[in-house]
Amino acid sequence: SQIDRYAVFGSPIKHSKSPRIHKLFAEQTQQVMEYGTELVAAEQFATAVKEFFANGGRGLNCTVPLKELAWAYADLRTERAELAKAVNTLALQDDGRILGDNTDGIGLVIDLQNNHGIVLRQKQVLILGAGGASRGIILPIMEQAPQSITIANRTVAKALTLAGDFSHKLKINACGYGDLKGHSFDLILNATSASLSDELPPLSPGLLAERGSCYDLAYANKATAFVSWAREQQASKSLDGLGMLVEQAAEAFYLWRGIRPATAPVIEMLEAERSM
Ligand code: NDP
Repeated sequence: SQIDRYAVFGSPIKHSKSPRIHKLFAEQTQQVMEYGTELVAAEQFATAVKEFFANGGRGLNCTVPLKELAWAYADLRTERAELAKAVNTLALQDDGRILGDNTDGIGLVIDLQNNHGIVLRQKQVLILGAGGASRGIILPIMEQAPQSITIANRTVAKALTLAGDFSHKLKINACGYGDLKGHSFDLILNATSASLSDELPPLSPGLLAERGSCYDLAYANKATAFVSWAREQQASKSLDGLGMLVEQAAEAFYLWRGIRPATAPVIEMLEAERSM
């Protein structure tokens, strides 16, 4: 009757908000569990995961740069993780096997639709970036039946490959930033890591349709470069990824504990803390 252990692995990991989020979820749902952080580099990943699950570990979150490794490590995977080729959540099954899931995309969709009233159905959606985060959000976005999905990336070949990987599901337009001139979109999602270095992909004027909204998957204590750009475009909503972070955590928590925590009070608390 050891305490159920959970953790987030990654590098860097010090500033992760996940332990705080899961602690709040556990208190709220009265789950007896602990959730820690471990600085794990790619080379140590397999050893660290084995040791964790051999010592009372029940579930893990994996973040940069470990999501692809976690995908490869999992004994079985959900469809959304399979297609994403990236796993952010590992869960020990009753039979001892390790299930890999990717809750990032559903976290984004829930934040958009439930928390901000941004419906994806029939919308023209533009995704900036073709890295792991883009890969993770595509299937959950597709499932909401948008009118179209376009992926623009600096390295165009990566956007084409990504679109090709999902082409059996839905046609995705793939292009470079220059090709976006003259087009406009109802929702622009920034899934590049540009915001982390205060940069912005080269976005042409008129890219955002009237009454359109913008969402940066990245989050920071101040407005990201993309959120500032969105405000300049008079976006109906200019959001960052804090809500997505909490919602993806709630999905992981549900997978592990079978209980869905209320996310609104947790998002509210984190919002209040960052504006202090
Ligand atoms: P990757 O390193 O896998 O991909 C980075 C992407 O950003 C690539 O498409 C790259 O283009 C592009 N890029 C980087 N710098 C620039 C720039 N200056 N101009 C234009 N494009 C640029 O990163 P991830 O996909 O893992 O993460 C992307 C973002 O999503 C991060 O900010 C991360 O914090 C966020 N995220 C947030 C989550 C949440 O819960 N809120 C969950 C997961 C991710 P190229 O291919 O040409 O190099």
